[in-house]
Amino acid sequence: MYLRLASRTRISDNGSTLVLGDHMDYRDTSDEAAFREEVREFIKNEAPKGMGRGEGGFGGFGEGWKAWVKKLADRRWVAPAWPEEYGGAGMSVMEQFIFNWEMAEARVPRPGGIATGFAGPTLIVHGTEDQKQKYLPEILDGETIWCQGYSEPGSGSDLASLQTRAIRDGDDYVVNGQKIWTSGGHLAKWMILLARTDPEAPKHRGITYFVVDMKSPGVTVRPLMNMAYNHEFNEVFFEDVRIPKENIIGEENRGWYLAQTTLSFERSNIGGAVGARQGVEDLVKLARSNPVSKLSSNLSLRHELVDRMVEASVATQMSLKIISIQAKEGVAPGHEASVAKMYGTELNQRIARTAIKVLGMHGQLDTKNEGVDASTYGRYKYQYLRSIANTIEGGTSEIQRNIIATRGLGLPRA
Ligand SMILES: Cc1cc2nc3c(=O)[nH]c(=O)nc-3n(C[C@H](O)[C@H](O)[C@H](O)COP(=O)(O)OP(=O)(O)OC[C@H]3O[C@@H](n4cnc5c(N)ncnc54)[C@H](O)[C@@H]3O)c2cc1C
Repeated sequence: MYLRLASRTRISDNGSTLVLGDHMDYRDTSDEAAFREEVREFIKNEAPKGMGRGEGGFGGFGEGWKAWVKKLADRRWVAPAWPEEYGGAGMSVMEQFIFNWEMAEARVPRPGGIATGFAGPTLIVHGTEDQKQKYLPEILDGETIWCQGYSEPGSGSDLASLQTRAIRDGDDYVVNGQKIWTSGGHLAKWMILLARTDPEAPKHRGITYFVVDMKSPGVTVRPLMNMAYNHEFNEVFFEDVRIPKENIIGEENRGWYLAQTTLSFERSNIGGAVGARQGVEDLVKLARSNPVSKLSSNLSLRHELVDRMVEASVATQMSLKIISIQAKEGVAPGHEASVAKMYGTELNQRIARTAIKVLGMHGQLDTKNEGVDASTYGRYKYQYLRSIANTIEGGTSEIQRNIIATRGLGLPRA
């Protein structure tokens, strides 16, 4: 089921053609339906029971994870968008969309993140044969964590202003500087690092893309706790860290352009839209069956919950529109992806706020407290606190609005 944009036409009484506008065809083609069924069957038969979305990656590699990744790897489904010659499944964007949708519906965990989404594609497109042989196979084992050393204390939205320096010294580069908000830096084996190699060049042109061994002497990782009191990201300091020149990906001073590489990924964020809908459904179930719920006594809260359900449905429609553009026109979505990112992340925050209102005082319980109540309700408190970062990570809502204004609406830059 997906949106296939097509102009609906009919012949008017006087014989001229009327274009009635785009309409939506939600049906799978027979090939798509067969593939969807294959993915569903695979999940039903192979996914270990009782494994939550958070398993693997920063959630740790718990029981069952290795077996699950092995089953995915046997199908080349650890990095389904990668070309087959590098261990991927070479899925079309529509196949990726269906795959991502079904995995999200089933709430099963996925290996990947920065390793499959950023490091792997950059190596595939710009890496040497030696680099590909060295790094790609271990990404597919699902347990090698990579981190992304882009942001710095003074450079986030304006990333090209980054100041970490890499100076050539013989066969090495010597790196000094600081990165921040480095997700998984404390668990990562490798980092993809952007560092300035030519301070005289215009800011986008003097940046180089490196792979850094996180065990290199001079690398210090300091934890930063997020406001949900989870250790997810870090500060990473570089003090005279020597990186061999073989660890440059692509050419010196061309790193900025490499950082944009994503292969042919589907960019609908259907997983986010499905997660939002499931979040509201779970809340409705909880509210129906639970005496602590404020719903029966609060009419406006019932309306709020309905609003969230409608909004989750809107988020799904946005994903469908994006995949239609990608599949039909073969182009990466532009401002449409910014609309979906901004809407989806702000919706997460609204759902979390509604949940806390529904739960009343129980909304203050934490998963770290003891008791059944804490694990049931604590999930919503966690979402309330963690979702605040959603509108910052991956490009802030303000930056998305700028893109929508200039590229979507054609407004002049401020
Ligand atoms: C949970 C989380 C995980 C992250 N993981 C990583 C990671 O693994 N690796 C990594 O490198 N980075 C990571 N980041 C960093 C993230 O990319 C940056 O936080 C983000 O790009 C914003 O940059 P900043 O924090 O420096 O804020 P700033 O860019 O300083 O922005 C501050 C405020 O000013 C606004 N603003 C800035 N410029 C404009 C503008 N032109 N127009 C309008 N408003 C503007 C912003 O929207 C924001 O509200 C992570 C962040 C979070 C929250």
